[in-house]
Amino acid sequence: MEKVARRHIAGTDLVILLGDITVQGTDAIVNAANSGLRGGGGVDGAIHRAAGPIIDRECRAHVAQHGKLPPGRAMWTHGGNLAARYIIHTVGPIYRSDEESEPVLQSAYQESLRMADGLALESISFPAISAGVYGYPLDKAARVAIEAITDYLQQGESSLKLVQMVCFSNASYAAFSDALDAV
Ligand code: ADP
Repeated sequence: MEKVARRHIAGTDLVILLGDITVQGTDAIVNAANSGLRGGGGVDGAIHRAAGPIIDRECRAHVAQHGKLPPGRAMWTHGGNLAARYIIHTVGPIYRSDEESEPVLQSAYQESLRMADGLALESISFPAISAGVYGYPLDKAARVAIEAITDYLQQGESSLKLVQMVCFSNASYAAFSDALDAV
């Protein structure tokens, strides 16, 4: 079975697929960063390795100028060696409770989309923010992500024609495609 699910929302295609975010050819890819923007494990480490050292320099310069990036906020760097022109770095919540963590996760998605619109981008790829070492239960992380993206796109004009959720495992793909079905 081909692992792609899609939905058209207010002029934008929302696509769920199984794959590696570092090889996506969208205008931007989103990084599930940490507040210090220092790279690390998981998808963050994979993106920093694939993009090359210029990204680390841009991240350090940002932190030196603006301080740490708080959870729920976003910033951008160039894409370095990636096919994507930009990396939008956002910080998801470390999961504690739905009440505390859901608004932060929603903000991480929506701030990233707002930044992509600010850059007049047409396509963007997201990983499953917070669903790895930050411990957000996968089914809940998927529901919050899909609702946040859908709400954002329904709110008004966006330059985005394509929003991809790039799932790294079958379990992640199943959770996100179920969440899309539920919208
Ligand atoms: P967080 O700290 O926000 O939880 P992680 O990197 O630990 O971030 O995990 C977030 C999600 O990214 C997980 O579902 C993980 O499987 C996934 N992931 C890891 N590497 C990649 C990759 N190369 N492409 C897409 N997703 C990835």
